[in-house]
Amino acid sequence: MVTESLNAFEIAQQQIHEAGKYINLDPALEAIIKEPKRVLIVSFPVKMDDGTTKVFQGIRSQHNDAIGPCKGGIRFHPDVTVDEVKALSMWMTFKCGVVGLPYGGGKGGVICNPKEMSQGELERVARGFIEAIAAIVGPDKDIPAPDVYTNAQVMAWMMDTYSRIAGSNQFGVITGKPIIVGGSLGRNEATAQGCIYTIIKAAEKIGLNLQGATVAIQGYGNAGYIAARLLHDLGCKLVAVSDSRGAVYSEDGVDPSHLLEHKQKTGSCVEFGTCSLITGEDLLEMDVDILVPAALENVITSKNAANIKAKIVAEAANGPTTPDADKVLFENGVMVIPDILANAGGVTVSYFEWVQNLMNYYWTKEEVNTKLKALMFDAFDKTYITSQEHKVDMRTAAYINSITRLSEAIKARGLV
Ligand code: GLU
Repeated sequence: MVTESLNAFEIAQQQIHEAGKYINLDPALEAIIKEPKRVLIVSFPVKMDDGTTKVFQGIRSQHNDAIGPCKGGIRFHPDVTVDEVKALSMWMTFKCGVVGLPYGGGKGGVICNPKEMSQGELERVARGFIEAIAAIVGPDKDIPAPDVYTNAQVMAWMMDTYSRIAGSNQFGVITGKPIIVGGSLGRNEATAQGCIYTIIKAAEKIGLNLQGATVAIQGYGNAGYIAARLLHDLGCKLVAVSDSRGAVYSEDGVDPSHLLEHKQKTGSCVEFGTCSLITGEDLLEMDVDILVPAALENVITSKNAANIKAKIVAEAANGPTTPDADKVLFENGVMVIPDILANAGGVTVSYFEWVQNLMNYYWTKEEVNTKLKALMFDAFDKTYITSQEHKVDMRTAAYINSITRLSEAIKARGLV
């Protein structure tokens, strides 16, 4: 048996090829879409607290800008690779396409471990990286945002450094900023909130009552925790949660806010109240109604796909399911809400933030949420209709819609 590839870039290319078959994708278009337009690899020195200087490596990949400037987060993680960042930038293009945003995809990564860095070191890495990529980013070129292990504070530092280089305030260069320096209300919750809107739609389609529905969440960061809280508010029961240190289970359900307090105090979700300790693998295979992978790539693979019992898998993370696993889940009737739809709420409110920055006119939280809900519901419906038309899973459908839109733009510009 040939083992499946876990290389995110190869996976992204495979997903494009699979979806392309349903729309007879022109080989020239496929060749364009399969590669990022530009990848910049940088090294930059950072003074560490102990007086030494360390050289960090970072990457910014710009996949495609046929529809608008590139857009996508910057992650700080020790396992960042060029191929991963390239894939993440491709997924951003298709994510923006699914929601209909006037953007192409971009993504950045810095190889570092924020858990072992002081605030000062984190700030210097953030400022060093944005300075190193300043020539290729900008409000009308490429607009970064938060991703794994980066947050509003990191965005504020980056915006500040970029603005100093530009010689004037450039709020529109980056999104996910603190409210006081051009951030948007609702951005912090947006990824989870958008994910919940897609879960509501998916539950409707399969006839699942969310009141009392059981939920397992893999990853308890920004997306995972807020998704847990919002699902809890809807009456769902959160029975299992994991983070990078382990997983916990409670038949009676856990209160997401209490669990967050515990995580903030102890550094992890484990040893919480009367919860029993389970493995991360147990959590994924748990007999629940809804499974939310909210951490990193490749957690549902050909190895465990057949054991997934959830009725809905809502991908708050990017790339949690491999193409081989997708096939198994589809055959088993699991409704997978793909990352490029399920977590598109984040970039959608990023778009709102950027629009507000360009207008210098700010919206209420209600305005943001009403617009987010409308776009997410519409994106879900369009994806669902395509999945029914072509008898394909939701991921392939999302790709079909996105690639069709992107192809039109590439053709209209006369590139093929
Ligand atoms: N990092 C987020 C994502 O993967 C948000 C990107 C953005 O807001 O530009 O979708």
